[in-house]
Amino acid sequence: MTTPLMQVSGLGMTYPARRRGAGIKAVDGLDFEVRAGETLGLVGESGCGKSTTGRMLVRLLDPTAGQVRFEGQDISGLSQRELRPLRAKLQIIFQDPFASLNPRQTVQQIISAPLRAQGVSKAQQAKEVRELIQLVGLAPEHLERYPHQFSGGQAQRIGIARALATRPALVVADEPVSALDVSIQAQIVGLLERLQRELGVAYVFIAHDLAVVKHLSHRVAVMYLGRIVEIGEKDQVYADPAHPYTKALLSAVPLPDPAAERARERIVLLGDPPSPANPPSGCTFHPRCPKAQEICRSEVPLLQLTSGPGERQVACHFPENEDSAAS
Ligand code: SF4
Repeated sequence: MTTPLMQVSGLGMTYPARRRGAGIKAVDGLDFEVRAGETLGLVGESGCGKSTTGRMLVRLLDPTAGQVRFEGQDISGLSQRELRPLRAKLQIIFQDPFASLNPRQTVQQIISAPLRAQGVSKAQQAKEVRELIQLVGLAPEHLERYPHQFSGGQAQRIGIARALATRPALVVADEPVSALDVSIQAQIVGLLERLQRELGVAYVFIAHDLAVVKHLSHRVAVMYLGRIVEIGEKDQVYADPAHPYTKALLSAVPLPDPAAERARERIVLLGDPPSPANPPSGCTFHPRCPKAQEICRSEVPLLQLTSGPGERQVACHFPENEDSAAS
């Protein structure tokens, strides 16, 4: 078996409490891997810790627990100087393209910045930037313009070109289409997919609903209140969700087949996700879970392989497809 591109173990982020007491666990003990050239969809409601996770994967945030191994090397404790050569291989695309592009720089300057940081010669920068702008579907004449002269979709293409400038092995795409019109979202997802085919880059694609990542992902991880509650091959998770939370999220995804869409039963969850500052005991999903039983209030369910085919893992005492006794 080949070593995964990235291995995450026990990854956590605890923010200090404002007053005395335990800190706030935004991310709690994540274990997963990212394979070369794949897309791992990372999905959950806002506040579940998915963006914090994405930022820790590329070391824009320093984890307070656990490890991130990239190409076999533990990068969680590296200094900024030690990280510099790795920055070329690990990149991020942000949700709001305008906020992430310097308004005083031309597109040429923006896209060439990562190449400059890696010491690439000016002539080579100019050549590569021309290639990159065309790769993302814009034209060389756009290079002398400023971010405000573009639409949201075009600005995100510039962000993508910048992220790909150094030919990274892994890009964290942090809700890259959430701020865009629905008609533009499909174009950007299609672009990311084509670039993956052409360049072999792996993505961790963060989204707040399962519809956005369905097309692009090879595997999907569902997060709830700082933990992964289900992870597995895309087809398996979508066809046969094992965690009640995944099932509820999926019930909100429209189906392409009109008959199936008419028959779709929407599971509406009660209330909002609880605050990570005051998480429920046991399974943190229990106050909203239609299947909750006594054990769910007291015992934290561990992420475990399901008994079905594939490598799907679920953290639930009563998984949807195994109506057996509590684990
Ligand atoms: S452990 Fe219990 S409360 Fe949590 S998701 Fe499973 S059935 Fe629901």
